[in-house]
Amino acid sequence: EAGRKLFAGEAGFFWAAAPSGKLPPMGTLEIAFAGRSNVGKSSLINALTGRKALARTSHTPGRTQELNFFDVNGRFTLVDMPGYGYAAVSKQKVQAWTGLIHDYLRGRATLARVFVLVDSRHGLKAADNEIMDLLDKSAVSYQIVLTKVDELKKGEAEKRVAETLDALKRRPAAYPEVVVTSSRAAEGIGELRAAVAKLLAE
Ligand code: GDP
Repeated sequence: EAGRKLFAGEAGFFWAAAPSGKLPPMGTLEIAFAGRSNVGKSSLINALTGRKALARTSHTPGRTQELNFFDVNGRFTLVDMPGYGYAAVSKQKVQAWTGLIHDYLRGRATLARVFVLVDSRHGLKAADNEIMDLLDKSAVSYQIVLTKVDELKKGEAEKRVAETLDALKRRPAAYPEVVVTSSRAAEGIGELRAAVAKLLAE
């Protein structure tokens, strides 16, 4: 498969950026992963990179407030964005999160795409629409990845994809394809790797 070679080899953490902290100097192209807390982001990053614990799974929702940067094979930089939309987080933390994300999205020339993860059971929520507003405003390319599709029946997944694509029509920076995944059932991982490989080849 197109993306397998890209991810085979070394992957390692090299930088954490906290609110008001420094971002790493720009290096290889960056592929970022965002999503609501508990969407399955850590599990998906681990499945993509073939690592058991590159990204920490099942941490306290809303706790991790850092942007974590990983070098993958010297070929690109994987950016794990802090989860959003967790209700119990204070207003101050939400502001810190927004500030951090603004700082990152503003003028990051090496950022090739943000994959916005959405739980396929729930579809797009207000918090997802807010980050998509921000990405559209920042003119940063993004693509929706549905997670945990093992929880849905086949017809339901198709309906969710159609509904999501429909919502993206009005969004200028959205890539008009949706990737359907399940880390648990190892579904869509190859497709997502191939999407990353295609981006890096462009
Ligand atoms: P994060 O908070 O977005 O990093 O999400 P995690 O990867 O830590 O996963 C949150 C919860 O969702 C955990 O209980 C996982 O076991 C579960 N989960 C993650 N991926 C899947 C999946 O593909 N299918 C199902 N059914 N559950 C998943």
